[in-house]
Amino acid sequence: MSETRIGMHELDTEACLRSATPFLWLNTEATPQEPDDDQLCQDVDAAEHRLARAGSLLSRLFPEPQDARFCMSNLSATHIENTLIKCDHAMPLAGSIKARGGFHEVIALAERLALRAGLITENGDLAVLARPDARAFFAKHTISVGSTGNLGLSIGIIASALGFRTVVHMSRDAKDWKKKRLRDRGVNVVEHDGDYGLAVDAGRKQAAADPQAHFIDDERSVDLLTGYAAAAREIAEQLDQQGYSVGEDQPLFVHIPCGVGGAAGGIAFGLKRIFGRHVYCFFIEPVASPCLLVQLASRSQSPVSVYDIGLDNRTEADGLAVAQASMMVASLMRTRLSGICTVSDAQLFALLLSSHRDFGLDIEPSAAAAFAGPLALSSSPRGRAFMANLGSVRCKPIHVIWTTGGALVPDIERQRSLERANGIAAELDWR
Ligand SMILES: *Cc1c(COP(=O)(O)O)cnc(C)c1O
Repeated sequence: MSETRIGMHELDTEACLRSATPFLWLNTEATPQEPDDDQLCQDVDAAEHRLARAGSLLSRLFPEPQDARFCMSNLSATHIENTLIKCDHAMPLAGSIKARGGFHEVIALAERLALRAGLITENGDLAVLARPDARAFFAKHTISVGSTGNLGLSIGIIASALGFRTVVHMSRDAKDWKKKRLRDRGVNVVEHDGDYGLAVDAGRKQAAADPQAHFIDDERSVDLLTGYAAAAREIAEQLDQQGYSVGEDQPLFVHIPCGVGGAAGGIAFGLKRIFGRHVYCFFIEPVASPCLLVQLASRSQSPVSVYDIGLDNRTEADGLAVAQASMMVASLMRTRLSGICTVSDAQLFALLLSSHRDFGLDIEPSAAAAFAGPLALSSSPRGRAFMANLGSVRCKPIHVIWTTGGALVPDIERQRSLERANGIAAELDWR
């Protein structure tokens, strides 16, 4: 057990973190309206535009009949009033939220390389990138990435389809079926007997030694972040189409599972930009891997990891098994995030089971974490006080549960998880 003091401002927070007690943390540094980061906003606009332009390229690369909207998911109603599910677990091709950032970064990179080589023109038709000459050109380049599973899957699928040599450095958390799927596509999967941070470091080092290699850096990449952030415009349009009008009387609550923070942080940045003080973003992290919470609660400008407070970063939520949050995301979330709730693995399995039974969803444990958000707000004293203080009596919040992955999970794995969940009794309340 580490004795490092990290100077948490609330003793209660530190006690709950150290004892792995599921709890709701409210961010006292959240500000109602954040002045926007202009450069990043322009980059988000460019990402939205790029993903829209990529439709023809993606339908060439993946001609199997499927939904033409490759980088979008449905926003589904539920039987619970004003609670919606953003179905990123069903993202086409990659089966997870990682399709957003991962596809965007690989396409952006392919576009830059092709522009430099004179294969396309500025803002030209990206479908050209599927031509044999472009493919032969990409085959001289390597794309590599470090991952706990889903990012590697997403990058591997799109990069190998474009013809890139692709190397995925997998942490010990990665499920075997994810590795196998990639190897079946000709991707070089390197297995590491260490955590996510170690896999990322290994990939970063190897790529630095090769001038033709491009490393997709989940801890620092703007192209990943903006690909995720583009989801904000998408959901804003869907809410509008479904007759919701986010504002004073109808604030939006969004609940997103958080690993290193890129996906969750990108989306929260995009949503804050659109909805300002009318959107409340809550992240969910495993009790063993609350990396963003540890970083934000420490108020430190230097990296603090979950190991520093004696946690082991061991969780069944492979997508969330990250010990050290992205510092880029931590700084963006410092004033934009409303709070974080932590979940135990037992709670994750209980939520997985109920999401299957009550909503007919087939999601992975990491994604089931999202369901903890609304429950923590309604079951903890702190959450209830937060909701009661929202303002007008007419106030009717909309809750969006962001299910982040699961469509590709093999049936046998799914059965195993549900059986395991059946044998677990978990209390679904939060401190
Ligand atoms: C990666 C992942 C997350 C978290 O995304 P980060 O960018 O790591 O914060 C959540 N759910 C699933 C299923 C994931 O694969």
